[in-house]
Amino acid sequence: MDTLTLITDSYFDGTRCHDKGPYRIEAHDGVIARIEPDQPSIPPSGRVVRVPFVMPGMVEAHCHLFLDGAELDLEKRKQYLGAPREQMLDVGRKSLDENLAAGVTLIRDAGDIHGINHDIRSEVERRRGDKLTPDVRSPGRAIRKAGRYGSFMAEEATDVQSIDRTIRRLAESADDLKILLTGIIDFEKGQMKGGVQFDLDETRLIVSIAREQGLKTYAHCSGPDGLRIAIDAGIDSIEHGFFMTRDLVREMADKGIAWVPTFSPVWFQYEHPECCGWNDASVERLSQILNTHFEQIARASDAGVPVVAGSDAGSYGVPHGGGLIAELFFQRRAGMSLEKVLASATSTPRRLWGCPSADIIAGNEVNLLTLDGSPFVSMENLRSVRGVFQRMLHQVIDPSLRKETPYAA
Ligand SMILES: [Zn+2]
Repeated sequence: MDTLTLITDSYFDGTRCHDKGPYRIEAHDGVIARIEPDQPSIPPSGRVVRVPFVMPGMVEAHCHLFLDGAELDLEKRKQYLGAPREQMLDVGRKSLDENLAAGVTLIRDAGDIHGINHDIRSEVERRRGDKLTPDVRSPGRAIRKAGRYGSFMAEEATDVQSIDRTIRRLAESADDLKILLTGIIDFEKGQMKGGVQFDLDETRLIVSIAREQGLKTYAHCSGPDGLRIAIDAGIDSIEHGFFMTRDLVREMADKGIAWVPTFSPVWFQYEHPECCGWNDASVERLSQILNTHFEQIARASDAGVPVVAGSDAGSYGVPHGGGLIAELFFQRRAGMSLEKVLASATSTPRRLWGCPSADIIAGNEVNLLTLDGSPFVSMENLRSVRGVFQRMLHQVIDPSLRKETPYAA
């Protein structure tokens, strides 16, 4: 039997912090067998690793693996969209490594027209048991209305028949269905660009076909019109969700609809307006939009909306791994408790998606990370991942792989 004993000062189990250590976390053949107070008089068994802090492996709920968010040259980003497949695959592999370096062991990709996300998922599955990499949930391509926003990630549908056909085809290989329900924000005007992509009847149809195919739905959606439709249609998760209102938050709580707020891409533009050519008026709009977002996320969390951490890494200015950690700082800044913040990147998404729990409790498979210090002492410790353990595998993290964000969180 392979026995691993982690001796730690404190740990977060997925819901609560335990800080009356030291504790012993003993695992047999990749499964947590027991967690007990460490008694120096009893020698620990198996391989022993002493660490300051342990928590479940993190979840990145919204990123685009095939895009390198750290590339800030807009011309290069544009050219890259026509790059050879092998180059995109290399970017996808690098994104995976950068996520792992931040302690991520489960990624939900958010759409990719080239299907690099599916290829990366296959590579991960082939190597399972040999090499520690994050698990990947992949939608393949998303679905959008013909001619509307989202050409780099979504397939077009025009009418009821093509919606039906498209979802059934995507469902053959997708883990979840990603929907483009609205466009993007016009930061000069401080409002949404264009109307909603699918009306309420179409969105209801999308949700019902997806459910019938066993897929959960997550929708790129901002602005009150789109949010209204997403909630009425019973989408499982709202991605971005800018311009949220108090009433919509209450309905999301009632229906148990999750929210992935993705502060990062907007915050990047707020901090680096020169990258997008924003003038003072646009920066003011960005600031207002972000303030509303902070306020509503705090309200949503208090009301019981399942808040889930996702950074939209890959989008402009948001690096993989570092972006997710920044997202946790934004939630904390909004006023969420640190327990809830950490749950948003661990237990909450795994529960919502029906994935095996990675909580640090006896009976669960080992799926955890170790930090140089407790985030409950200083949140900065979240940036100090020392190692990741998954089943029987252990990966020491090379700090040079950690990608910091070009913005302060
Ligand atoms: Zn996205």
